[in-house]
Amino acid sequence: MVAEGRVIVVGAGIAGLTAAFRLQQLGCSVLVLERSAPQDVGGRMASVAVNGYHIDRGATLLSYKNKYLLSLIEDAGLARDIIPSPGESALVRNGRVVQLRTGSLRDVRGSFPTIRDFARVMADFRRIRPLINSRDMSTMAVWDNESVSGYAARRRLSSGTLDYFLDPLGVTHNLADPEQTSVASPFIALNRILHGHGFFTFQQGAGFVADAISRQLKVEYHAEVTEVEEHKHDVTVTWATAGGEEHLAQCEVCVIATPPPAMTRLYGQLSPEVGDYLRQLEYAHAIHVNFCLDEPTREKQLVLHYSRAEDPDLGVTFLPHNAAAQRVPAGKGLATTYLRSRWCRSHWDLADEAIVDRALRGLSRVGAPGGLERRINGTYVCRVAPATIIRRPGDYRALAGGVSKELERPTRVLFAGSDYLADSSTNSASYSGQKAAERAARYLGLRSAPAFARAHRVDPDTLDHGAKIRR
Ligand SMILES: Cc1cc2nc3c(=O)[nH]c(=O)nc-3n(C[C@H](O)[C@H](O)[C@H](O)COP(=O)(O)OP(=O)(O)OC[C@H]3O[C@@H](n4cnc5c(N)ncnc54)[C@H](O)[C@@H]3O)c2cc1C
Repeated sequence: MVAEGRVIVVGAGIAGLTAAFRLQQLGCSVLVLERSAPQDVGGRMASVAVNGYHIDRGATLLSYKNKYLLSLIEDAGLARDIIPSPGESALVRNGRVVQLRTGSLRDVRGSFPTIRDFARVMADFRRIRPLINSRDMSTMAVWDNESVSGYAARRRLSSGTLDYFLDPLGVTHNLADPEQTSVASPFIALNRILHGHGFFTFQQGAGFVADAISRQLKVEYHAEVTEVEEHKHDVTVTWATAGGEEHLAQCEVCVIATPPPAMTRLYGQLSPEVGDYLRQLEYAHAIHVNFCLDEPTREKQLVLHYSRAEDPDLGVTFLPHNAAAQRVPAGKGLATTYLRSRWCRSHWDLADEAIVDRALRGLSRVGAPGGLERRINGTYVCRVAPATIIRRPGDYRALAGGVSKELERPTRVLFAGSDYLADSSTNSASYSGQKAAERAARYLGLRSAPAFARAHRVDPDTLDHGAKIRR
């Protein structure tokens, strides 16, 4: 079978959907091939409906700083569905909730055990901050020589600062322990707290964006791409459908928008250097337990960060009803608790009931969020692997060593996905999809449309959602 279309996009995650949407805006004929079923569209940005609750399988925190994602939302006509979220973050310590309000240096100061540690970490943050770049994190190369715990030891920070500040922020970023992850992680999270613009959400969860955009595109589901082969004048894409039937199509340009592990299996023409780099990337395993509640918790925060000193396996809890009341059925509540990647990896096949028990034991040990166990009317366990990329010390340096240039060279086969050049996030995934579309357009001899430039100017205050944005 030969499919129509000058461009084929592999993968209907937010990176692939962005690339396809932008190319379609330019008048291209685009076919998206996605191995999952329609209800799972969005990959790691999908939401699932369970007894009236919309549960985010992956991404849940969408920030007003996400300008590429926001411009996509606006251009796809979805801005009126945005619900601004008053939710904030907090650290949980000895059963007490210590607020970390967006933009509050005072709250950050209050969460350090000593003023000396606060001064040291803030001095380093000021040096690191200009290097944080959600589009291409190779900028972080100069700082990327130690783990979070190695950094804490070198800077002679107290165990309280590591356990109650750096680790809880870092684990929210990628679910990894501080021995494993690059020192960049907690600083990226701190940047979001000090320089964020607050969050937004949708009634049906983050997955609404992917679902609504996919409906504006031509997507073939249950289509698992097995090979992408680049020739001088075209690209051949091979895929299998649910019954095992093989399909083949030629296109002028192909955008591979799968995470690197899948990409290295289906595209054999990578340079050995890039192939080796992508194959050794490490991903978190994510298991999260969703507690559907009869009523909202007394706790008003959106994000609760835990210390491993109080429970070694607990990561973070999100309370979506605090993002917006409309996020849950009227009068109800929802709590999503993540366990750390180390625990998830070694307990991947554990029965759901045992996982729920483990999460509940952890929550009662740390004493938050108060009273949750008395309100539960149902639970839903979600497993995601590969989940978020774990940037180990040295990873960003390898990116700067040529991988990022090679992945951007002009060819008929382009790559999109946050995990290639940045950390896992919906905004960097969307940016990468837009960049791939721009390169594809150049390759096809099309002129860039104004919509592409708008991404650089989008201002949340001018979005057409009519609601007052809280600062
Ligand atoms: C648990 C979790 C929580 C997260 N929380 C947040 C958050 O709060 N905020 C945030 O901004 N980001 C968050 N992220 C990160 C964010 O969700 C991802 O970085 C982003 O969604 C990745 O998008 P993508 O399109 O690059 O990849 P994916 O979403 O993984 O999309 C890839 C798609 O390709 C398909 N595919 C793979 N192989 C093939 C093949 N051979 N043939 C056809 N199709 C194929 C997959 O089925 C999938 O649909 C979270 C991620 C996870 C897992």
